[in-house]
Amino acid sequence: YGDYNQKIDYVFKVVLIGDSAVGKTQLLARFSRNEFSVDSKATIGVEFQTKTLVIDQKTVKAQIWDTAGQERYRAVTSAYYRGAVGAMLVYDMTKRQSFDHMARWLEELRGHADKNIVIMLIGNKCDLGSLRAVPTEDAQEFAERENLFFMETSALESTNVETAFFTILTEIYRIIS
Ligand code: GDP
Repeated sequence: YGDYNQKIDYVFKVVLIGDSAVGKTQLLARFSRNEFSVDSKATIGVEFQTKTLVIDQKTVKAQIWDTAGQERYRAVTSAYYRGAVGAMLVYDMTKRQSFDHMARWLEELRGHADKNIVIMLIGNKCDLGSLRAVPTEDAQEFAERENLFFMETSALESTNVETAFFTILTEIYRIIS
């Protein structure tokens, strides 16, 4: 993708939301740069990364936004949601509370975002299977009830990360094109 003449057909803004420490930043690092770092970031403030991919022979630039710590202060602003066509609602499958908070995050999202936004529920840290605190069925049931896509991922082991982003971006493409 080094071609600076590359024509971009679509830019899709996707926001990551969920409690602090569920792995949002690492999911983004894995997807955009194929990196993972064990040290958590200290920066505060909205940040995004982009990745260009091809869907149905069209060039799509995914602009993925990370709260970068704002959620700790419940200060995710409406600017964060503005223009978003997709959202990933992330919980840590080893932390029941982070899953129980999904309803609240969903409410906040639906209050701020476009009504056609595509939403995917993500249970991250599936590499920590022995510490699982959220059964897959619970999350599946919630996702079905709320009409969300659902996937379990590991940013650490790269499990389903590409698939999750590709699925949401393809669905956005299907709706928008
Ligand atoms: P954020 O606050 O939601 O952005 O969470 P971070 O991406 O900063 O991750 C919080 C902590 O969880 C860090 O110590 C990460 O290394 C760790 N972490 C993130 N994703 C995974 C994962 O898939 N598996 C495991 N085992 N740890 C993870």
